[in-house]
Amino acid sequence: MPKNPSSERLVFAVDLGGTHLRVALVDDTGRILKQSKQETPKGDSADDIVAALVAAAKNWDSYRGAVVAASIMVPGPVDSDKAVVLQAPNLPSLVNFALKAELEQQLGWPVFLENDANAAAVGEMWLGAARGCRDVVSVTLGTGVGGGVILDGQLWRGSHGSAGEIGHTTVDPFSGLKCKCGNTGCLELFASATAIVRMTRENLSLFPETRLQSDELTAEKVYEAGRNGDELALAVFKRFGMYLGIGLANLITLIDPQIIVIAGGAANGWDLFAEEMYRQVRERAYRTTAQQVKIARAECGDNAGLLGAAQLAIISSC
Ligand SMILES: [Zn+2]
Repeated sequence: MPKNPSSERLVFAVDLGGTHLRVALVDDTGRILKQSKQETPKGDSADDIVAALVAAAKNWDSYRGAVVAASIMVPGPVDSDKAVVLQAPNLPSLVNFALKAELEQQLGWPVFLENDANAAAVGEMWLGAARGCRDVVSVTLGTGVGGGVILDGQLWRGSHGSAGEIGHTTVDPFSGLKCKCGNTGCLELFASATAIVRMTRENLSLFPETRLQSDELTAEKVYEAGRNGDELALAVFKRFGMYLGIGLANLITLIDPQIIVIAGGAANGWDLFAEEMYRQVRERAYRTTAQQVKIARAECGDNAGLLGAAQLAIISSC
């Protein structure tokens, strides 16, 4: 039976990013009724973030009676009972701050906290590329690399709230490249937007014919150059695909998912890195698994996390 499109059960969903704070009202069919975006308040205290969220909720006060919960996605692991944020390099004021308790008191709704990559995985399973799948891994290629794992339809958070951190698995221990997590040779050092810029800059002298300039590099510019046949850009994306494929092959052999969903801004380089990514998966992953797993681009775009956060709150509020 089709769901009522004018559902009265809404979630105040929040994407609390290091740069932007996005809020939305989402109904239980995944329809986004309202959405807004602002800069995330900076500072030593989390009170400004709480105040911004309370003000955003107040803007939609006429919907208040239909809201069943608030669901906040944060860029870091949250503890097992989801009361506090454990790590957030881009929002240090949130660490060990009683965000859930404070917001529940000020908003008057039950509040759920979730890691952003986990929420994105749930969003893609609910309404995106992984619809109908039970074993799903999502990999977000952005400024860094995030991951979310769903096993038998359930989000797998791990024993300490940090499962799925594929971006910080080692793909090249001899690279000498230090990651902000403390490890050397993490996947995110090779398969992120940041990595595209760094690898391009490092190799400029080897490609004197390139039109790319050191002082104005962005991942988008490298991609455009690659689309126009620039040899340096093509080499960078091939390297990106190689390391991504190594990381995915390890993941496939370990988890045996039905589908891996590739999301994030750097996934826009798909046509330049996919061939090498698939080659590595074919060569390295457990053969029967590699032949059957689907690797697909995400379908929910920037809204995957907001939708996933809403879905998690709806399930928990039933
Ligand atoms: Zn790392």
